[in-house]
Amino acid sequence: MTLYFERVALIGLGLIGSSLSRVMQREGLTKHIAGYARSAATCDRAVEIGLVDSIHGTAADAVRNADLVILCSPVGSYGAIAKEIGPALNPGAIVTDVGSVKGAVVRDVCPFMPDGVHFIPGHPIAGTEQSGPDSGFAELFANRWCILTPPPGSDPQAVAKLEAFWQACGSHVDVMTPEHHDLVLAITSHLPHLIAYNIVSTAADLEEVTNSEVIKYSAGGFRDFTRIAASDPTMWRDVFLNNKDAVLEMLGRFSEDLSALQRAIRWGDGDALFSLFSRSREIRRGIIAAGQDTASPDFGRGARKT
Ligand code: NAP
Repeated sequence: MTLYFERVALIGLGLIGSSLSRVMQREGLTKHIAGYARSAATCDRAVEIGLVDSIHGTAADAVRNADLVILCSPVGSYGAIAKEIGPALNPGAIVTDVGSVKGAVVRDVCPFMPDGVHFIPGHPIAGTEQSGPDSGFAELFANRWCILTPPPGSDPQAVAKLEAFWQACGSHVDVMTPEHHDLVLAITSHLPHLIAYNIVSTAADLEEVTNSEVIKYSAGGFRDFTRIAASDPTMWRDVFLNNKDAVLEMLGRFSEDLSALQRAIRWGDGDALFSLFSRSREIRRGIIAAGQDTASPDFGRGARKT
């Protein structure tokens, strides 16, 4: 066990905050975890299940004397939190976050970071559709990527320390610019969520099949979209509001490709369909080869009685 930080402050104690708490405790990465969340219910629960060593009435109180501060709330809340905690931060402290977009986070947080504080945005590419303090688990980050987007001129030692911290949480670390992050994640994460929300909503509008058949026959594929579409609405609202340009760019490309598929179906172009489906299958194989999903049939759910 290596002690990376004396005192870590977690602002937000949901899926990601509670998973970080769990892994930090398991690996002995800090002596003290200070926590803050918006509601009394979450704060009480965090104490009850041992996520924090101390819980605080304000975010500013939580970050006092912390040498690592991690923002783990929805991206839309970061600006106000940064403004509040700025004056309470210790010189030399590292402030990071786990938000799913990066350009907007730099825009909203940087102006409130005092001189001598290292702000290094981050994003663990790991998650589930669950939320809240009970949903976290220590293994969430194992063998997953964490992307850091240090602003130009960041202290290399602070970046290296944060990188080592994420590695101790089980992650591989990549460093890139916020703009590149937002473009890549627009296609790998944001667009898939938008498509899932849309297909589930389209099905819900089909009154005559909704009540029984959509659920009864969901194993045909629909069910896999509903898992993604069960993700936290606040978090995803904030993602789309804060990664507008990249998502609209990817949506444009997606719509063009969808029109091409529509055309292939209309004109009976089996070769076009076959070649596109074959290419997609290779991508799935690549994900499995990279250890980012299981090769077991049906995502390893196993046979179920029907
Ligand atoms: P979550 O389970 O819904 O938890 C969010 C936490 O933030 C809750 O403790 C909530 O407190 C708190 N919170 C909300 N508004 C706040 C505010 N204004 N001030 C302080 N705390 C506030 O969400 P999550 O899934 O952990 O997501 C947290 C962050 O991680 C988001 O920025 C998201 O983009 C990013 N992320 C999520 C995933 C994923 O798969 N879920 C993956 C990677 C990154 P209450 O419970 O009291 O409301």
